[in-house]
Amino acid sequence: MRCLFVQTAVDTPLDNYFDYRWTGDDDAVLPAVGQLALVPLGKREVIGLIVAVSEQTEVPPERLRDVIALRAQIPPLPETWMALCRFAATYYQRPLGEVALPCLPKKLREQKPLALERALKKLAQASSASAEPSVATSEAPMLNPAQQQAVDALADANGFTPILLHGITGSGKTEVYLQAAARRLAQSPEAQILILVPEINLTPQLEAGIRARFPAVPVATLHSQLAETERLRHWLAAHLGQAKIVLGTRLAVLASLPKLALIVVDEEHDPSYKQQEGLRYSARDLAVWRANQLGIPVVLGSATPSLESWQHAQTGRYRKIELSERAVQDAALPAIRLLDSGRNQLTDGMTAALMAAIKARLERGEQSLLFLNRRGYAPVLSCDACGWVSNCPRCTAFMVLHLSERKLRCHHCSLEMRIPRTCPTCGNVDLQPLGRGTQRVEESLQSHFPQARILRIDADSTRRKGSAQAAFEAVHDGEVDILIGTQMVAKGHDFQNLTLVGVLNPDTALFSHDYRASERLFAQLMQVAGRAGRSAQKDGSQSEVLIQTRYPQHPLFAALKAHDYGVFAAAVLEEREQAGLPPFCHQALLRAEAKELQDALAFLQQAAQLVAPESVTINDPIPMALTRVANVCRAQLLVESASRPALQAFLREWMAALRAMKTRVRWTLEVDPADI
Ligand code: ADP
Ligand code: ZN
Ligand code: ZN
Repeated sequence: MRCLFVQTAVDTPLDNYFDYRWTGDDDAVLPAVGQLALVPLGKREVIGLIVAVSEQTEVPPERLRDVIALRAQIPPLPETWMALCRFAATYYQRPLGEVALPCLPKKLREQKPLALERALKKLAQASSASAEPSVATSEAPMLNPAQQQAVDALADANGFTPILLHGITGSGKTEVYLQAAARRLAQSPEAQILILVPEINLTPQLEAGIRARFPAVPVATLHSQLAETERLRHWLAAHLGQAKIVLGTRLAVLASLPKLALIVVDEEHDPSYKQQEGLRYSARDLAVWRANQLGIPVVLGSATPSLESWQHAQTGRYRKIELSERAVQDAALPAIRLLDSGRNQLTDGMTAALMAAIKARLERGEQSLLFLNRRGYAPVLSCDACGWVSNCPRCTAFMVLHLSERKLRCHHCSLEMRIPRTCPTCGNVDLQPLGRGTQRVEESLQSHFPQARILRIDADSTRRKGSAQAAFEAVHDGEVDILIGTQMVAKGHDFQNLTLVGVLNPDTALFSHDYRASERLFAQLMQVAGRAGRSAQKDGSQSEVLIQTRYPQHPLFAALKAHDYGVFAAAVLEEREQAGLPPFCHQALLRAEAKELQDALAFLQQAAQLVAPESVTINDPIPMALTRVANVCRAQLLVESASRPALQAFLREWMAALRAMKTRVRWTLEVDPADI
């Protein structure tokens, strides 16, 4: 009979570990650091992560409880993974248990290990069966010299090698990832490769590409739409080292990958790499940290890199490799034209030039894409007679008109109500939709081009599981003439027959309170423009991007027209440096929520009183731009420093003080906040 004491991290907001006693006769299943164990916690039984094992303990025996069961069916989580979680916990100022345990599949954290045992059995069967045939295989194309340089750099890298792959849209970045992966796997068949993509909808296309290229290599996907049993199986395949290529969205960066040898972060600038609740981590930043820890290469790919990564490339911290031409022969970048929507008459929100361009595409049998980042029919319903507008009763926001569902819907708190027949204030029967969303544009296009096959893709049209994939396939298969969509359609897709992109109304993002808005707009427009002209046109004609704006003189558009990200980035970086904004300073944001705004502000005011070192600036508390959501008022306090270590040291002390304040106000701290 052996008796050992283990310390476990559990998923609670408490910043400490719990000690348990373990006794057993079987020396084959001793507890180990990194192992999971079922332990009692209050009246519950939960899965904890063992962080220390020892032969003694200082905890008095009457306070020690017993481990209920060890999860010895699987190997302990590797030390490198534990270190990743410890780093994330420290850097983002959260307890380890709250970081490490939510990374694990739900089914692994169940009290009974039934699902685990079933999944292990399935995996054992799969690995003894020969590789699945039945996929159409694809041959690797000859790389162009720039692609070859990138692949060589990745495959021959020794030690930590961060590479920024700045490649214009359609320059063949995916091919670089695939061939670098092939080289790594050829060098060491044990190796695991992690490929991160920003959007779930991009995984089926890429997964099919990977399977076709590597028919014999086990591939696992990890994203939030997997069913729980699938997620468990895929996670285990990664943890056991069976899956050699792991493709996933941001959460995959926290997977256990004992043989990780190469990391790819595609579209590294994308805001969805930032988790917006719970542990607010940046998957891109953690990917770079992981590569550094393991001494392996990491490639950050983008046509419009984040200014943080761009700056690292300028200062030489990252190696920059440029792909400045489209990979497909004779596929040319589209011509970008601005249509002045202030001077030209609009019909249903569209200029005559845009209508004519769509018509020409229909006649030639080519596809058009209209981009409008606003779903619903109209953003507001209003009464001309008395000035009533469809405010959400619970938020400082309008309720959006969704005509096809016959609802007003708040996009912030999800409140729905029936569309009023008459004005709630004055009884006027003639209520007017103001502005336009994707549904309204779809309707107008249908009336102008009744013969065209029109498809709308946005969060509303793709609610059902699998419907987004079906919609994208319809576009790829040529079953659609005009595609209208939100940012969902802007990313990554390699549409072959698309020769026109129309951008309806990008203007609000030009003048936002958020200093990152123009960076995001530029990336979004470059990305959506990049959907056009991805293959050579038979008649040699160039594809077009038409942008309707009231501000055609805005400098952002000049850089966009020249397809020159470098010019845009240089200008924005200079502004940021002068204003002392990221990447020239480091920030953390304390947010507070309360029924009354003044309570949230008062809490922040108190938090601001705590003394900070000179190198750290605490700004004044302010209400958030969207002050009230679901009847909760929100305020924020920004903390800044030119020195990351100084900020980190301050945050540690500050968090301890804030936790000791025992307020009723709900608060969260976000390190490196994305939206301010
Ligand atoms: P990106 O991710 O840079 O936007 P993709 O990787 O989607 O670009 O590549 C665009 C197109 O170019 C794809 O159809 C791809 O198959 C093709 N392609 C990539 N590399 C080559 C190459 N070396 N020769 C021919 N075609 C290529
Ligand atoms: Zn009215
Ligand atoms: Zn609301």
